Amino acid sequence: MRFAAEFRSESRAAAIADAIKRCATKSWRIMEVCGGQTHTIMQYGLQDLLPEKIELLHGPGCPVCVTGLDLIDKAIAIAARSDVIFCSYGDMLRVPGSSQDLNDVKAAGADVRVVYSPLDCLRIARENREKKVVFLAIGFETTAPANAMAVKQAKQQQLENFFLLCSHVTVPPVIEGLLRSQDNVVQAFLGPGHVCSVMGFRQYERVSQTYKIPIVITGFEPLDILDGIYKAVVQLEESRYCVENQYKRVVERNGNAPAQKVMEEVFEVCDQNWRGLGVIAQSGLRLNESYRRYDAENVFHVKTQPVEIVSPCISAEVLKGLKKPHDCPAFGKECTPEHPLGATMVSSEGACAAYFRYRRFEDEK
Ligand code: SF4
Repeated sequence: MRFAAEFRSESRAAAIADAIKRCATKSWRIMEVCGGQTHTIMQYGLQDLLPEKIELLHGPGCPVCVTGLDLIDKAIAIAARSDVIFCSYGDMLRVPGSSQDLNDVKAAGADVRVVYSPLDCLRIARENREKKVVFLAIGFETTAPANAMAVKQAKQQQLENFFLLCSHVTVPPVIEGLLRSQDNVVQAFLGPGHVCSVMGFRQYERVSQTYKIPIVITGFEPLDILDGIYKAVVQLEESRYCVENQYKRVVERNGNAPAQKVMEEVFEVCDQNWRGLGVIAQSGLRLNESYRRYDAENVFHVKTQPVEIVSPCISAEVLKGLKKPHDCPAFGKECTPEHPLGATMVSSEGACAAYFRYRRFEDEK
């Protein structure tokens, strides 16, 4: 495939892997932040090209995986109402809540629709004025601008029946949360290329300097990731720490100013509950005062009870890089993509789903 092939060349991959081997004198643990990067690493078997000294850890950068259980329960409660059309990206329908998922309420007769853009929901709201149309707005800084734009357009079009159930998360606070935790094992990060295409990487410069940790903003093709690993290993071996931009063809230091502007106009920073990681201060985005009337939580006043779930799922440790999916006793047995017990098996970008798809039989070799 033209354009992609140049980032997937086997000979160039072998050359970079060889450079990493020659450079690495010690053991290093490097975490890729994005689920998309995890998927590429698994699909192309990149870990197998690396020396044993280099261990890749799979981070919390899959939005489906980290959306809080409480938010899923609220989504289910709102979707079950007869006056609501509930819209969501497809993956979210299978994320387990405390007792059921959105597919269950859809099967029971609720009007739950899969959409590909928040702008689809504006059309549905225009065509169904007698219903309240709610969009499940999840994701990192990559999806926030489109959701902000949808709310802005709803205001401009005086759409009274469009709402967001909002659970946006942001990357720098979760990186800082991992680095602050007692059990942190991460020694360098491959930064999130897509997120940085929107936000730039100035925030990551502060994180790198504060925690004295190398961060390489990295793309999603196999050669991008190998190059990101190489750059991280060079810094680690030289006892340096700074932000390097491997993904220069997409990311600029200041990011996308118009996208940031619409986010600032519509959202404000808030604390956020991450599945498996708990509440992280100032790590989320919610609708600000000017746009609060579009906030589904304010409109429906849904209260959920904290639930103690008994489950073999170790996805919290997987998201922190402390364990691998193969360490989970349920992996590939009780837990599969068809019957996921945890969110990291639901999304194709989740580490457990990626291992299931590409490394399921590894223990049997
Ligand atoms: S394999 Fe399933 S149960 Fe185990 S950690 Fe992954 S999502 Fe959780």
